[in-house]
Amino acid sequence: MLNKNLILNLILIRKDKVMEDLTDVYNELIMEHSMNSYNKKKLENADYSEQGHNPNCGDEITLELKLNGDIIEDMAFLGHGCAISQASTSIMIDTLKGKKISEAKEIIKTFIDMIKREETNEENLKKLEDAIAFRNVSNMPARVKCALLAWHTMEDILKKHK
Ligand code: ZN
Repeated sequence: MLNKNLILNLILIRKDKVMEDLTDVYNELIMEHSMNSYNKKKLENADYSEQGHNPNCGDEITLELKLNGDIIEDMAFLGHGCAISQASTSIMIDTLKGKKISEAKEIIKTFIDMIKREETNEENLKKLEDAIAFRNVSNMPARVKCALLAWHTMEDILKKHK
């Protein structure tokens, strides 16, 4: 029969390891946005509404966008999924709202390149603002698609907008 303390110790060691991995990625900002996002709502009079789906994890979002000329006037989302996908959508909205479309395209490209580890220049990464919180996701291949879902969905919207 196994010693109960031994089992308990094994459980605790495992938990510590998991917690360590989580703190790298699921930092306070990400947790905040994933649990209670003020960006999660229906947008009145949206110009664009686009669905994004990540079957690997079951993440689903509907991203809505309102433009004023070439400025992103307002954005919001609805959906469900893991903490990373939901927080990434909310933080992307905070980052892109109020920006020009041309600036938004730059930021989206920089975010995708950061996750793919193709962009590591600190100066260039500054334009991501809070979205830099997802940097460590590039070390977790299973989470990459979760983090990129919103950004690819936004790319699709901007491709439609000619
Ligand atoms: Zn996910």
